[in-house]
Amino acid sequence: MARAARLLLAALAALLAAAAAAAEGGDAPPGRIAVVGAGIGGSAVAHFLQQHFGPRVQIDVYEKGVVGGRLATISVNKQHYESGTASFHSLSLHMQDFLKLLGLRPRRDVVGRSAIFGGEHLVLEETDWYLLNLFRLWWHYGISFLRLQMWVEEVMEKFMRIYKYQAHGFAFSGVEELLQSLGEAAFLNMTQRSVAEALLQVGVTQRFIDDVVSAVLRASDGQSAAMPAFAGAMSLAGAQGSLWAVEGGNKLVCSGLLKLSKAHVIHATVTSVALHSTEGRALYQVRHESDAGPGSDFYDIVVLAAPLPPDDSSGRFAFEGFAPPVEDVRGSFQPTVVSLVHGYLNSSYFGFPDPKLFPFASILTTDFPGFFCTLDNVCPVNVSASFRRKQPQEAAVWRVQSPAPLLRAQLKTLFRSYYSVQTAEWQAHPVYGSRRGFPRFALHDQLFYLNALEWAASSAEVMAVAAKNVALLAYNRWYQDLDKVDQKDLMHKVKTEL
Ligand SMILES: Cc1cc2nc3c(=O)[nH]c(=O)nc-3n(C[C@H](O)[C@H](O)[C@H](O)COP(=O)(O)OP(=O)(O)OC[C@H]3O[C@@H](n4cnc5c(N)ncnc54)[C@H](O)[C@@H]3O)c2cc1C
Repeated sequence: MARAARLLLAALAALLAAAAAAAEGGDAPPGRIAVVGAGIGGSAVAHFLQQHFGPRVQIDVYEKGVVGGRLATISVNKQHYESGTASFHSLSLHMQDFLKLLGLRPRRDVVGRSAIFGGEHLVLEETDWYLLNLFRLWWHYGISFLRLQMWVEEVMEKFMRIYKYQAHGFAFSGVEELLQSLGEAAFLNMTQRSVAEALLQVGVTQRFIDDVVSAVLRASDGQSAAMPAFAGAMSLAGAQGSLWAVEGGNKLVCSGLLKLSKAHVIHATVTSVALHSTEGRALYQVRHESDAGPGSDFYDIVVLAAPLPPDDSSGRFAFEGFAPPVEDVRGSFQPTVVSLVHGYLNSSYFGFPDPKLFPFASILTTDFPGFFCTLDNVCPVNVSASFRRKQPQEAAVWRVQSPAPLLRAQLKTLFRSYYSVQTAEWQAHPVYGSRRGFPRFALHDQLFYLNALEWAASSAEVMAVAAKNVALLAYNRWYQDLDKVDQKDLMHKVKTEL
């Protein structure tokens, strides 16, 4: 009875706030906003919403697990290591802005060489000499690496138009509109054809795709060169530019943004979003469950900032009371296991019987039916000035990424012996072919789905771009500034009119 009365009071208060906003001529900011998920998408959208709507708006961020989501660390031998997102590339402009805003620093880079393992032997080995690396690439693959670089640069140059559009306040209500605006029909086309098809068309050889491109895609996305060209290009861009990570741990960006936005973090699982009122502005009821039991609250704006799993999985979530029903935004994700192994590498497996002579810090793998995708000798999240990478014959912390948990025999294949193995199991990236078309950002008047963009490409920066888009979309729709939504020919407008 008391709970029913509380609910009624909350609904009344929210309706009064909405009525007051209407009486003020619609210029009043929203009273309350709910964000579901405190990963980089949810934290960034809380920050951008607060920037746009001002400090009066109350932002509640619901998190069922740990703040950071797929930005996470694991402690091994009293040091912390990245167990989810490892790094960001140099063109991640929102991530770089967050770093400055929060007074965080990039972690000191500790150089290490890479090699690609083909199942029986190494197919490509990096050396310490830049020119020799280029020569080797040319010797083995002709100018395929230059063609790949030009292809990736062209995609990135167009993708980066988004920062200009966002700086001018423009937003998109669907992924297709956003991609069309950045790269016309070519970008949409790239979401429907494979990386291999697109690269063969620009003259990259099949051998280079099999040996090098596949290895990079397996490492970044756990997928092959059959994955869509757009998502693939974004991942390959990461392999070309210089990479960076956050000193102290990448997840500090999420906790920092939530603190900065003065968001109220609620540790609960959101089980449904229901449409409560359609007179005037929509009002949404968010139902949640926590250790304290079930509860619910009312909001003017709701942002879903978490990938929604398929119906048949355990993460049940429902939309209620919407007519017509909210579109189906679900899809399957690629399971990826990150194992942090503290031990001695079995360098013989890679053709180096003497461990002292093993020169690599990273091993990528090609598409042979292998049990692991990458193996990295990793640095902790805090790298002191005196830090040095462990020598190959010493016990070190290795990060192994694999499609399934490593069996004991597989661990024994990679390591002579080990002290500990700790794992993080992720639903890492979308299985891009598992759904037709893209979900929309705008699911209802003021109900948004940030992870819609993850179906085009999945990375922390892409989620930050989606967060800025959703915050601008919510703001433009709230104040009926519809000239700033889904504008066509924006590149031309931004160049000539603004
Ligand atoms: C192993 C691995 C390596 C990766 N490497 C890189 C990399 O090097 N560089 C890069 O840029 N990207 C990388 N990625 C991808 C990147 O991590 C993701 O694209 C990005 O972090 C997604 O952020 P998000 O906020 O959208 O989702 P998430 O980080 O998944 O956050 C969603 C949050 O919502 C919460 N949640 C879900 N449902 C509910 C609910 N019903 N109620 C309340 N809370 C809920 C979850 O607990 C989670 O914390 C990697 C991912 C993995 C797993």
